[in-house]
Amino acid sequence: MAVTNGSLTVLGSSGGFPIAGFACSGYLARIAGQSLLLDCGPGIAGALIGADAKAGIDGIVISHLHPDHVLDLIPLGYALMTEWLTEGRTQPVPLFVPSGGLEFLQRFSDLFGHRNWRFAEEGGSAGYRALGAALARGHDWLLTVFDAHEYGPGEDIAFGTTTIATLPVDHRVPTAAMRIALEGMDFVYSADTRFLPALGHFAAGTDLFLVDAHFSGPKAPGGLHMTPADAGRLAAIADAKRLVLCHLGAPQDGASARQAAAAHFAGEIHVAFDTREYRL
Ligand SMILES: [Zn+2]
Repeated sequence: MAVTNGSLTVLGSSGGFPIAGFACSGYLARIAGQSLLLDCGPGIAGALIGADAKAGIDGIVISHLHPDHVLDLIPLGYALMTEWLTEGRTQPVPLFVPSGGLEFLQRFSDLFGHRNWRFAEEGGSAGYRALGAALARGHDWLLTVFDAHEYGPGEDIAFGTTTIATLPVDHRVPTAAMRIALEGMDFVYSADTRFLPALGHFAAGTDLFLVDAHFSGPKAPGGLHMTPADAGRLAAIADAKRLVLCHLGAPQDGASARQAAAAHFAGEIHVAFDTREYRL
């Protein structure tokens, strides 16, 4: 494997809702000198924002618009807004959302009245004045600190020098799996999906395959996700080097999830406990 400076950090991987010590979906990819956040579920803002109160991200891609993947966009937006007000930041963070995402974001933000805020038009930092001007034009401050773009699952996303390939997966709402390959690193994130052989082909030969294994544990119901065994089958189709089980419904029960996946996949298997970092 080529040596790169890339990494993938699991900020949270609890499925559906956070539990003590386990945030919901959020993965921080450091690629080509930039930090890209994949999904932003409950608990991710707190996992991401350091003691300096800075988010430190260059872009965000949202796989789909379920609460456990998007709710922390609001507190993350508040942290960015604070940077604009107090430190003069005027650079929005690119935010890529799947089809329907722009309307969703506006409605989500309108619940909190963000279009009605007012900042004095004089004084303050450059960021303060920029936010005041945006609001005076009828814009929303949240959708000013984020530069939101919609993509259709299946379309490429251009982020700086990186192209993110996407694949529509089977999860009822528009949902995209993602593959990022550049400078010798290559990983795939399944997002949330039922078992889908096409996703195994999409991930063919990848170095690290981060796969939804929500239906882990003894009480797993059926539905819109995969079991750890399904994740193992998918990794075998892909012939991936490493399988990382994520979005676990029972994250405290990682050992049995790993065992179930190992019955189908002979490669390396990890369980995405929070704050685990992988070299890419
Ligand atoms: Zn979902």
